[in-house]
Amino acid sequence: VDLPAAVHAAASLAGQGGRAVRDVSMTKAFCGELVNNVMYDCLQFHGGTGFVRGIAIERMTRVVRVQSIGGGATEVMLQEVAKRM
Ligand SMILES: Cc1cc2nc3c(=O)[nH]c(=O)nc-3n(C[C@H](O)[C@H](O)[C@H](O)COP(=O)(O)OP(=O)(O)OC[C@H]3O[C@@H](n4cnc5c(N)ncnc54)[C@H](O)[C@@H]3O)c2cc1C
Repeated sequence: VDLPAAVHAAASLAGQGGRAVRDVSMTKAFCGELVNNVMYDCLQFHGGTGFVRGIAIERMTRVVRVQSIGGGATEVMLQEVAKRM
């Protein structure tokens, strides 16, 4: 997946109704899950050190968690996509 292109394409549809909502929701769901998967693997790679509170990896893993919740949880985004398929 060409992620920057997908984000750009979704953003360029802003104001175009149903298709924009579908593509933006799809992109938001994908990015929110992707960044969490990446940080999960980063923490795993760092082992116990990655788990120590205050360490950059721990903070980043915790902070990205909101990306799949805030502004519409992934489940809600996927429902918006499903309604428009
Ligand atoms: C740090 C932070 C900043 C925020 N800033 C803003 C802001 O500036 N402006 C603003 O308007 N809002 C803001 N919010 C609110 C944010 O938009 C909501 O937290 C978000 O939309 C999720 O809603 P909720 O927290 O009520 O979770 P809920 O809707 O209660 O969802 C909780 C969980 O339930 C599940 N779920 C919910 N609905 C469904 C469904 N239909 N199908 C299946 N599963 C489902 C999902 O697993 C979901 O993750 C902020 C939130 C945070 C954490």
